[in-house]
Amino acid sequence: MHIEIAPVEGLPLIREGDDLPALICDRVAFDDGDILCVASSVFSKAKGYTRALASIDPGERAARIGAMCGEDPRFIQAVLDESEDILLEAPFVLSTLACGHVGVRAGVDQSNVEDGLLILLPPDPMAAAQEIRERIFGITGADVRVILTDTCGRSFRRGQTGTAIGWSGTPAIRDYRGDTDLFGHVLKITEEAVVDEIAGFANFVMGESNRGVPAVVFRNCPAWTGHDELYFTADEDITRAALKKGIQ
Ligand code: GDP
Ligand code: MN
Ligand code: MN
Repeated sequence: MHIEIAPVEGLPLIREGDDLPALICDRVAFDDGDILCVASSVFSKAKGYTRALASIDPGERAARIGAMCGEDPRFIQAVLDESEDILLEAPFVLSTLACGHVGVRAGVDQSNVEDGLLILLPPDPMAAAQEIRERIFGITGADVRVILTDTCGRSFRRGQTGTAIGWSGTPAIRDYRGDTDLFGHVLKITEEAVVDEIAGFANFVMGESNRGVPAVVFRNCPAWTGHDELYFTADEDITRAALKKGIQ
């Protein structure tokens, strides 16, 4: 395995209406099988999934949570509006989104955007990844795989990592169940979240601040087989159940 990883350099500041896949295709000679990771923040900017803080009128719950968390109640209102199910109100809001993603502050960002604007996560990240993939096929004829990433915190460990919130052209998970290890033991539970592993390294190449690299290409990355059930369902998720007990 000799995987090449290249940042997509020279992209402009992305604005609503920009054809992001076309801008990327101007800078990359895609091959079939390439994996393109795109930061969800720039996809959202291109699509106008943003909100002006000044236009938000916070309700009672947002005011209460804002006071507890030391955050602008208008920002908290945007987070609540993006959320389907609130798992934790303080010291930060943790919630489930309609797409299945569970994230701190519902993934609403205030960085890499003009003052007073919020970047929301794309409402349907799977459709977003598919749209990018199809547009790249339309422009270049290359059959690429696409992973939409966001930087997320995680439980139990410090430090944020890149996470896959949408993907297209590949299963999310490599399923090892039924495979045998070096000693002939049958693997019973091992499923590898490969899209998250790749998103994690893409995030490292992107950086978090002013590098201006919202897209990264992986070449020669082998394909894997498995499935797309990356998110636990509510009744499988013991962490979510434990947190919900604290919020009634
Ligand atoms: P997120 O992880 O999806 O929330 O995105 P980040 O805000 O962390 O940005 C990821 C990368 O994209 C960083 O290298 C940013 O500097 C870069 N970036 C963010 N917005 C833009 C943009 O509009 N244009 C360009 N060229 N880079 C951007
Ligand atoms: Mn983000
Ligand atoms: Mn980031």
